Amino acid sequence: KSFEALNLKKEILDGIYAMHYNTPSKIQETALPTLLADPPVNMIAQSQSGTGKTAAFCVTMLSRVNTNNPWPQCLCLAPTYELALQIGENVEQMGKFMKDLKITYAVRGEKLNRGEKLDAHLIIGTPGTTYDWALKFRFFDLKKICVFVLDEADVMIATQGHQDQSIRIQRGLKRDCQMLLFSATYDDTVMKFAQAVIPNNPVVIK
Ligand code: AMP
Repeated sequence: KSFEALNLKKEILDGIYAMHYNTPSKIQETALPTLLADPPVNMIAQSQSGTGKTAAFCVTMLSRVNTNNPWPQCLCLAPTYELALQIGENVEQMGKFMKDLKITYAVRGEKLNRGEKLDAHLIIGTPGTTYDWALKFRFFDLKKICVFVLDEADVMIATQGHQDQSIRIQRGLKRDCQMLLFSATYDDTVMKFAQAVIPNNPVVIK
């Protein structure tokens, strides 16, 4: 029941302790060994906010990113601008000892130039702007994403357009991209969405 047992990169462990996370929360303890396994496995996790789920997928993204590669490798979708920034703050704190780590926010108001290619390692965004960046303007290549996170899926499906945008984004990913979905509730509509967007026999954690 310790973060040491997870064999994390030293910079990530230092980041975790700098945030004063001393021991893994329940969901972190349950999910992280699976989330960090190789080859990567997909996961659908039911967990409320307040449980430490954000840190669980932030550790996963940071563990799999290679900052020597100047292109987006992890993509996290959140239903609101505020939540995207909140996740970004979390991952920035946790990744503060990772040299040269770059994060970009695919949210309304962020402007990029036509033809621009993103060199950030992590993208945190809302489904609409991320859809435009990936599929309309091709600011980054979905085929180079190795971790895809869909946070607060239950809120997402309640927002006009988000479900469809997320599914189209997911369809652009490579087959062996690790795909993770988090949701506070897990009723039939969430389950249907989760099954559509997280393929390959995902591990389900409640
Ligand atoms: P979340 O469920 O991701 O919204 O996180 C809930 C809160 O728990 C956040 O304020 C985190 O900073 C905090 N937190 C996450 N993991 C841990 C941990 N292992 N130990 C202490 N606090 C944590």
